[in-house]
Amino acid sequence: MLSDMANRVAGQPMFQLLQEAQALERAGNNIIHFELGDPDFDTPANISNEAIKAIQNGHTHYAPSRGIHEFQVAIQNTTYKSRGFKPSLNQTLVTPGGNPVIFLAIACSANPGDEVIIPDPGFPTYFSSINACGAKAVSVQLQEKNNFELQAEDVINAVTDKTKLIIINSPSNPTGACMRSEEINLIAEYAMKNNIYLLSDEIYARLILGEDEFYSPGHLDQCKKNIIILNGFSKAFAMTGWRLGVAIGPEQIIDKMNLMLNTIVSCVPPFIQYAGIEALEGDQRAIIHMRDKYKKRRDIFIKGLNSIKGISCNAPSGAMYAFLNITKTKLTSDEFSYKCLHEAGVALLSGNCFGIYGEGYARVTFANSSSNIHEGIKRLQTVYGSK
Ligand code: PMP
Repeated sequence: MLSDMANRVAGQPMFQLLQEAQALERAGNNIIHFELGDPDFDTPANISNEAIKAIQNGHTHYAPSRGIHEFQVAIQNTTYKSRGFKPSLNQTLVTPGGNPVIFLAIACSANPGDEVIIPDPGFPTYFSSINACGAKAVSVQLQEKNNFELQAEDVINAVTDKTKLIIINSPSNPTGACMRSEEINLIAEYAMKNNIYLLSDEIYARLILGEDEFYSPGHLDQCKKNIIILNGFSKAFAMTGWRLGVAIGPEQIIDKMNLMLNTIVSCVPPFIQYAGIEALEGDQRAIIHMRDKYKKRRDIFIKGLNSIKGISCNAPSGAMYAFLNITKTKLTSDEFSYKCLHEAGVALLSGNCFGIYGEGYARVTFANSSSNIHEGIKRLQTVYGSK
């Protein structure tokens, strides 16, 4: 017999779709992949070389579970430069990717029956982690009429005396929307006043594609009391397979997250952390180059998507995703993504993967080459027609 927790865990649906698309490929079909937010770029060579050097220098043993000192110092300095405050070493935790930060923050702040407020559509790990912990996910709808920007008023209206944690994610997966700094401030100030934890998922912080600057609430309490920052190396540094992330937050909760993490994984491999130092402090040209490429691809994708019958889509201002309104196709989101995969050979995600308010939408990623984006658009035009 499985435990209740095992029965409640749902995981990330994108991995199921990838499996399905790969099965079709093995059967001889050609599939264009727009489903997984995994950069098609290789990790910049200067970063990979630091890991190789670290292995050759013998950094292949256990490391402190919070992270090696040199990497923690690099995180402190980067946080000071990018967010205007310097967290203490006890406020930082190195993790195998950003995903574990979500689970750990929820597990360490919410008891079964407590409520966690999340943006919907939102990243599936939020739902899966909240459910696994026996807490209740309270969805706050991201509305297309607001450009999918999370509104502070909607968040505050969703708070009850059971709310233990609020999660915000700007730039957002799956919509690519960036929140306004005023809205972030209102939510953060409310959370601080009412002693609720606020998890700011900033994994796309370096992938701002519009004019506005990235904004983090971390400086408001210097992550000393209520605010927890999640960051990760997967996206902007093209390091999805390395599994490297960071949490910065109040010592009290970071201490517990550390104990929980070292119960499960002991530590993050030290040679991976040396690569992380280079990512933060080394040559940034490759990172800027990738971001500029994403901007160009976004523009190609948005123009192409809006030329397809039944589909409309605004240009996202961050991350690596476009969120398409597909209601005019008269298909449900699941039917739409099924048809894209099986009739067009294009793998994309049903909006349903991202919560109840994802119905009527689909997500594509532009973590794929311009030529594949052109080809994908051509295939979709063939199946759905052009405007
Ligand atoms: N947060 C968001 C919003 C994400 O989209 C992702 C990855 N898709 C993560 C966190 C976690 O990424 P990783 O575990 O690869 O660092």
